[in-house]
Amino acid sequence: MAPWRNSFRFCCFIVFLYIPFSIQNEGFPGFGFDSEFGSASGKILIKGGTVVNAHHKEVADVYIEDGIIVSVRPNIKVSDDVTILDATGKYVMPGGIDPHTHLEMDFMGTQTIDNYFTGQAAALAGGTTMHIDFVIPVDGSLSAGFDVYVEKAKKSTMDYGFHMAITKWDETVSKEMEIMVKENGINSFKFFMAYKGSLMINDDLLLEGFERCKSLGALAMVHAENGDGVAKGQQNMMDLGITGPEGHALSRPPVLEGEATARAIRLASFVNTPLYVVHVMSIDAMEEIARAKKSGQRVVGEPVVSGLILDDSWLWNSDFKIAAKQEPDILFFISSSFII
Ligand SMILES: [Zn+2]
Repeated sequence: MAPWRNSFRFCCFIVFLYIPFSIQNEGFPGFGFDSEFGSASGKILIKGGTVVNAHHKEVADVYIEDGIIVSVRPNIKVSDDVTILDATGKYVMPGGIDPHTHLEMDFMGTQTIDNYFTGQAAALAGGTTMHIDFVIPVDGSLSAGFDVYVEKAKKSTMDYGFHMAITKWDETVSKEMEIMVKENGINSFKFFMAYKGSLMINDDLLLEGFERCKSLGALAMVHAENGDGVAKGQQNMMDLGITGPEGHALSRPPVLEGEATARAIRLASFVNTPLYVVHVMSIDAMEEIARAKKSGQRVVGEPVVSGLILDDSWLWNSDFKIAAKQEPDILFFISSSFII
C-alpha cells in the first residue's frame, strides 16, 4: 500500500452531521490533504456521538489534535481553545478506504468519467475518506505517468495515495520502480495479465516484476485474467456475430480468471513475494486465493461490490440500456470509484 500520511486522522472519521470546513492542500507531491474543519488551534472535540468501530459502538467523545485522534472516551474535558462539534444523536465512524480507483483514466480510447474532484466528492458523500488510485505510465515511463497523475490530483479534496501499473519492462522501468518507492511513496505495483495489445504483460515480465517488487519491499498486484484467452474469446464472439453485452461474459468465462489467478499465485510463490489480486470476480479465482491462503501463502483477494452481488444474468436483458449497465467491467469502474 502506498504510505499515505496520518492514516488515523480526523478526516478518516465521518460525522453524520453538517460541518462547514476549509480545505488546505499541503503541496506534498501525490498524497494527502488536510481538512481543518474550521479549527484555528488544530484541536477539535466531537462530542456526544455514538462512536462506531469494528468491535463495538459506544457514546463517546473524540478528541483530535492536528489531525491525529488522541483520545476516544466519554466526557472528555478540554480547554477553551478547542473547537467543539456537537454530535449528539449522530454516528461517528471511521471513513472507508477504497484501495482501487481509476479517476480520469485514459484507457483504450476513452476516459473514466470521474475526476479527482467529482469522484472524491462522491466518495465523501458516501463515507469514503481515502482512496488509492492507479498511476498509468506514459509509453511505459513511470516518472512521466507519475507527473500526469500529480497534475490530475491537484483537484483533490481528500486523502489519497497511488499504486502504479507496470506496462512494459526494461532497465529504465526497473530503476524507476526504485525511485517511485524511495522518493515518491509508491510501493505497490500492478501487472495486467489481461488487455492483450494494450496493458498486458507476459510471464517473463511478471517474474521480473515480482522479483523487483520483492527486492524493493513493494507489493505486487495483478489483474488476473488470461489475456490470450480473452482475446480468443472475443474473436469467437465476433465470428458468431455476438456483439451485445452478453458477449462480454461469454468471451471471458471464469476459467480464464481462475487460470491467471492460479498462475500469478504460483509465480509469486516461486519468487516468494506477497501477492494482491485485484477485483476478484469469479468463484474460480476466489477458490485459488482461498487455497493459497490456507496453505500459508501471503495472498490478498480484493472484493468488488459487483462481483459480490451480481451475476451475468442481467447481461441478457432485452433492454440494451439495462444490460449494458450490468457490464462487469463497467460496473467494475463504477464500483472501483468508491462504492467499496
Ligand atoms: Zn483497476
